[in-house]
Amino acid sequence: MKPRALVLTAVVAVLALGTLVQRRRGYKLGGNTIVRCRAGHLFTTIWIPGGSLKAVRLGMVRWQRCPVGKHWTLVTPVREDELTDVDRQLAEQYHDVRIP
Ligand SMILES: [Zn+2]
Repeated sequence: MKPRALVLTAVVAVLALGTLVQRRRGYKLGGNTIVRCRAGHLFTTIWIPGGSLKAVRLGMVRWQRCPVGKHWTLVTPVREDELTDVDRQLAEQYHDVRIP
């Protein structure tokens, strides 16, 4: 393998591993993820570790638009087991644009 392909493979492997670890910790990442904004709004977004077109990535925090309060804010993923059924239903009503 060429060195560049090797580096790319390593990066993909690390990202995949990171997603697995976060899933085990109770975060549902890598698809539709329930997140909470700084104002406490819950909504669903597509969270793909390592890649995003519409948000600034800062590790487990993202700067993006909140569809509930219609404002730009920092959002963090919420552990599914910390949510009540009501929280989950509310979050599922709000989904931002379906691009990662
Ligand atoms: Zn908000």
